[in-house]
Amino acid sequence: MLRPSAVTIMFRARTGGCSTASATVWIGLHGTPAASSSASHRAAGGGTSLKQAHDRIRKIAECLDDKGLAALRQARQAVGQMWPQLEVRGEASLREEVEKLKGLLAADDFYESLPAIGSAARTVVTAYFTLYAKAHAERAEQFQAAVEKIKGRAEWNAVPDTMRQPVLQPLTVRCCANQEQPEGSLVCKACSATLSQMESDLAALGGLFAQVVAQVQKLTTPPDMKVQRVRVSEFFGGAMEKEEQVRQAVARLQDHLLKLLDEGIKIVVE
Ligand SMILES: [Zn+2]
Repeated sequence: MLRPSAVTIMFRARTGGCSTASATVWIGLHGTPAASSSASHRAAGGGTSLKQAHDRIRKIAECLDDKGLAALRQARQAVGQMWPQLEVRGEASLREEVEKLKGLLAADDFYESLPAIGSAARTVVTAYFTLYAKAHAERAEQFQAAVEKIKGRAEWNAVPDTMRQPVLQPLTVRCCANQEQPEGSLVCKACSATLSQMESDLAALGGLFAQVVAQVQKLTTPPDMKVQRVRVSEFFGGAMEKEEQVRQAVARLQDHLLKLLDEGIKIVVE
C-alpha cells in the first residue's frame, strides 16, 4: 500500500501590532514534541492522526476569531510594552500575574486559555492606564498652574495680545487635560505623550517657566533698559540654623538688589 508522505500543517495567526517574530504565532501540528507519538499513530493508521490534526485546526480556528485575536494582541502588548514601563516604575506586585501571562502565551495550547490570558492581560492594562492617567493629570495640573502664575505677574498685561499665545506655548503645549486614549493605544491621542516624556516635562518645568518669564521681561522692557536676573537661592545656600544667619543672608540680598536699582538696572527675581 502506498503510504502518504508526512503531512505538516502550519497554522499562522497574525496577532499584529508588533514587528517582532513574537507577534506571529506558529503552531506546528507535526513539528511539536507530540510528533513522535503521532508518527506511530500514522504507522498504525494515518487516518486517526489526520483526524486529530483536523480537529485541532478547527479548534484553533474557533478560538482565534476576531475576539480571540484581539485578546491575544492586547496580551502581547501588555507583556511586551506595558509591563516594562510598569516594572521600572516599581509596580512589582504585578510580576506574578505577568509571569503567568507569559507562560500562558508561550504554551502550545495557548488558544485553549484565552479567557485566562484575557483576564491576566486586563490586570496589566488597567495598571498601565491608571499610571498613565495619573501622570497625564499631574502634568496638566502643574503646567496649568505655571500658566496662571505667568498671567498673574504684573508685567503680563503689557505683553502684546499677538505675542501672548506664542510666549506661553512651551507651557500650554504640555497642558493637555483631555486625555483621549483609543483602545490599543499606549498614549493619549490628543498629545501623544509617552510616560517618559511626561516625566521629562515635569522635570523641565522649572527651566521652561524661567524661559517664559525671561521672554515676558524681554517683551515688556524698553530696549535701552538693562535687566538682570537674581537667583534668591544663591543668597540662601546651605542650611540655616541661627537667626543671625538669616538676617545676614537677607541683608546681602537687599544690598545687592538696591545696588542694581541704583545703577538703573531692572531686576527679575527668580
Ligand atoms: Zn493628552
